[in-house]
Amino acid sequence: MTQERIWLSSPHMGGEELPFIEEAFQANWISPVGPHITAFEKELAAYNGIDHVAALSSGTAAIHLALIILGVRTGDEVICQTFTFSGSCNPIAYTGAIPVFVDSEADTWNMDPILLEHAITDRIKKTGKKPKAIIIVHLYGMPSKIADIQSVAKKFEIPIIEDAAEALGSTFEGQKLGTFGDFGIYSFNGNKIITTSGGGALASKSESSIQKARFLATQARDPAPYYQHSQIGYNYRLSNISAAIGRGQMRVLDDRVKSRRANFEFYKDALGSFGPVKFLEEPKGMKSNRWLTTITFESADNQSINPESIRQALERDNIESRPLWKPMHLQPVFSECPAYISGVAQSLFEKGLCLPSGSNLTDSQRTRVAEALRRQVMS
Ligand SMILES: *Cc1c(COP(=O)(O)O)cnc(C)c1O
Repeated sequence: MTQERIWLSSPHMGGEELPFIEEAFQANWISPVGPHITAFEKELAAYNGIDHVAALSSGTAAIHLALIILGVRTGDEVICQTFTFSGSCNPIAYTGAIPVFVDSEADTWNMDPILLEHAITDRIKKTGKKPKAIIIVHLYGMPSKIADIQSVAKKFEIPIIEDAAEALGSTFEGQKLGTFGDFGIYSFNGNKIITTSGGGALASKSESSIQKARFLATQARDPAPYYQHSQIGYNYRLSNISAAIGRGQMRVLDDRVKSRRANFEFYKDALGSFGPVKFLEEPKGMKSNRWLTTITFESADNQSINPESIRQALERDNIESRPLWKPMHLQPVFSECPAYISGVAQSLFEKGLCLPSGSNLTDSQRTRVAEALRRQVMS
C-alpha cells in the first residue's frame, strides 16, 4: 500500500480567505479592480516597511514592469544571478535585452559581489556601455550579501531589482527583503510562502514608479473618456478575488515563516549529524524564511552521493523532493548569453536537494521524510 503523498510545498490557507472572497462576491467586485486590491497593497507595504506596492498578476510580470520602468530596451544588457528560477530572467528577454549571468558565493548561494564587480567592469570594456540593471535573488529565502552588492551597484550607478519571490518575510539586519533595491518583487504563486492562487507584487520607495507600474499593468490607458493609448500596455493587474485570498494569507504570514523555519530545525536535528548531509546556516545579520529546506551531500572521502538516486528513492516512498535550481547559464535557451562563472551554482545543482517544506507539514510527515532520507544515506 502506498502511503499518503508528501508534497514539496503546497498551498496552506489560513481560514480568513473565504470571508474576504465572500465580501468581494457580495459587492460584485470580481475583476482586476476593487477594494481588496488596494487593501492588499497597503498590507504588503506595511508588513515590509516600504511606502509603495502594486499588486500584479505574477512575480514575473513585476520584474518585467520594473525593467520597463528602468528604461531597459532591445540591445541593452541586464545582469542576473545565474542560480535561480527562469522567472527571474525571462523578463529580460521580453524587453529584447540580453541577460548576463553572474555566479553565486558559497555563504548564501546568492550573487557573488566580487564576481559582480568583475562582470560589470568586463562588460564596459567589451561593449563600451554599462549594464542597465542588476537582478539579485534571495534564493530559497536566504538573503544575499545585499550591502556588498549595493556598494558595487552604487559605484557604477546601476539600479538593483531585488527578486524576493521566495523571500517574503526574510530580513537583512532587521529590514525586510524586497525593500533594499530600486525595486523589489514578490510572488504569490501556489508553491510560495503565501499564495493568492497566482499573483505577484512590485515594491518601491518611489511613488511615481509604482503609479507607472499600475498604469502599464492596466493597458496603459491615457486619461480620456474613450480608450486612448500613447504607449504599449500590459494586462498584469491582480484580480480582486486573488487579492481577497492574499489578505487572508497576510494574516498568517508570520506563522508561515515560523512553520517553515521549524521544518529546517526539525530536519537539521534529525539529519545534521549524518556525516554527508549539510545544511546552509544563516550568516550574521541574516534571517531566512526558509521557504524550502535545502541540503547538500558532501563527504570527506569524496564518496559522492547522487542526489538524483535519493530523489527517486524518496519518490518511491511517495515523497516529493526536487533538485536545486538548474543554473540559467546551463539552460539551452540561455546558452549563448555572457556569463561570469566560478562553478558554485553548478556544484550546488549537482549535489543538492530541496526537501518537503510546506508550512502544513505534520510532525509525522517530517519524520517520514527524515527516516526515508536516513535509510538512503546509510545504505
Ligand atoms: C516564483 C519565482 C519567480 C516568479 O514568480 P511567479 O509569480 O511565478 O511569476 C521569480 N523568481 C523566483 C526566484 C521565483 O522563485
